Amino acid sequence: MLQVDLRELARGPVQTRAELAGDDPLFEGLEVVLADPVRVAGRLQSAGEGRFYWRGSLSTQVAGVCRRCLVPVALPVAADIDALFSQDPDALEDPNSYPLARDATEIDLRPAVREELLLAVPQWLVCRDDCRGLCPRCGKDLNAGPCGCPAAPADGRWRSLAQLKDKLRD
Ligand SMILES: [Zn+2]
Ligand SMILES: [Zn+2]
Repeated sequence: MLQVDLRELARGPVQTRAELAGDDPLFEGLEVVLADPVRVAGRLQSAGEGRFYWRGSLSTQVAGVCRRCLVPVALPVAADIDALFSQDPDALEDPNSYPLARDATEIDLRPAVREELLLAVPQWLVCRDDCRGLCPRCGKDLNAGPCGCPAAPADGRWRSLAQLKDKLRD
């Protein structure tokens, strides 16, 4: 439950716990596929007049292909959440703060979940840091060994020196 009634909050801190499907519209526009539901847990409490502080965490798993060798990759993602919901416009300069209407009757925590998830997911996936990728010529997966394509051309300066020597020999 990620919408909390302010009357409930007036009685004391509220434990928040929710599981959002990976294809929930909240996550639209995300560059990666969420292979697991997004699990959210936290504690929301009043932090003075018109201010509410939510401290929690989220976790899920993203899926995609390795950017270098194209094998399927799954990667766990987790993030802490520190969010301030405030009716005071001056408090909104803080990047972790979210506006709350003066006549609000509830706090919707979902924008903070989306924001934190967007920051936590990697821009691209790699199967491992030292993945060698695919040969640009034949497409073979170089993690499985060399492909037999000729090595990259030698440094141009040395090559022209060799050509010069050949010419002198002629
Ligand atoms: Zn790879
Ligand atoms: Zn090759």
